[in-house]
Amino acid sequence: MAKRDYYEVLGVPREASDEDIKKAYRKLAVKYHPDKNPGDKAAEEKFKELGEAYEAISDPQKRAAYNQYGHAAFDARARAGAGRAGGFHDPFEIFREAFGNAGRGGGGSIFDEIFGQGNGGSEPGGPQRGSDLRYDLELGFEEAALGCEREISITKLDTCDTCHGSGAEAGSGKKTCTHCGGRGQVVMARGIFSIAQTCPRCEGAGRVIEKPCRTCRGQGRREHTSKVKLRIPAGVNVGSRLRSPGNGEAGTQGGPPGDLYVVLHVKAHDIFEREDDHLICEVPISFVQAALGAELEIPTLTGKAHINLPAGTQNGAVFRLKGHGVKNVQGHGTGDLLARVAVEVPTHLNHSQKAKLEEFAQLCDSAVNPRSQGFFEKAKAFFTRG
Ligand SMILES: [Zn+2]
Ligand SMILES: [Zn+2]
Repeated sequence: MAKRDYYEVLGVPREASDEDIKKAYRKLAVKYHPDKNPGDKAAEEKFKELGEAYEAISDPQKRAAYNQYGHAAFDARARAGAGRAGGFHDPFEIFREAFGNAGRGGGGSIFDEIFGQGNGGSEPGGPQRGSDLRYDLELGFEEAALGCEREISITKLDTCDTCHGSGAEAGSGKKTCTHCGGRGQVVMARGIFSIAQTCPRCEGAGRVIEKPCRTCRGQGRREHTSKVKLRIPAGVNVGSRLRSPGNGEAGTQGGPPGDLYVVLHVKAHDIFEREDDHLICEVPISFVQAALGAELEIPTLTGKAHINLPAGTQNGAVFRLKGHGVKNVQGHGTGDLLARVAVEVPTHLNHSQKAKLEEFAQLCDSAVNPRSQGFFEKAKAFFTRG
């Protein structure tokens, strides 16, 4: 069926003013409104045709395009809008609101806001993936090194149990949004400007729930606190991030849930430090042990180990205990335990201890303290060179 000329539909001349167009539209819309013509298919068609014509002619840009190209001006838009509810929207419900306003004394401003614009782009209000969540978890040093299980409690937007995410009361469904006529957008026309906005009622979905679920008030999701059991693998460290797929927030409109990311923080240990998969432990020893040698028992993460300290061990010497470190989180073996000795200089000596040490010092020669002997000789040479 050939499309009628929009001016003809509205019964106005091509040069009609905006005001005349609005008046003509309002008059005809009242005449053909479905409320006044129940069951009359022809009136319904006329009403739709009228809405389409008014949408095109009341918008200065569209009107200019129509004046130049006729209906062809909107063909591309109609194609872009294909798949949506029949190209042009159905303005019935909104008009009903406008009707009420008109009855109260000619408040016609709503007419400016009635009509949506073609939206050929993305589908707002379609299925959307839920947000990812971040949870910061603090672990003990050993929990991180050896692995553990932790249960955390997370409050997030979860699928509503009552409506299973549909947002609708059991037995009810969705209907076309009456505010935007299913377009998902409304146009605010102000003089020569027209601003397309996401429909506030359906938030761009074009469809609204008939009877919203009472539990979630139609959101399909509601805040819910749930427990999540985490298996922390051995070898994680500060800043390690665990991903728990599907444990983020629920999606909307049937979209998939997001993921939960657990960011790990690890408490410091009293005696161990981590360097990747190696453990470092400072072991204080007496200067006598350092001089004479000793067997030391040192702690490991899981028990004890022994070091045979040779005679003459110097401060800062490092002993490597293979495989007593931390298991690599990716499964690449296990690190080592590095025991670094710290020679403790005796303090608070009593009289007889001092006497013994002085006696000992008398017995020392350059072979006993080769480094300090060497140093002071070099220093002497340095001062005398002066
Ligand atoms: Zn619900
Ligand atoms: Zn809407």
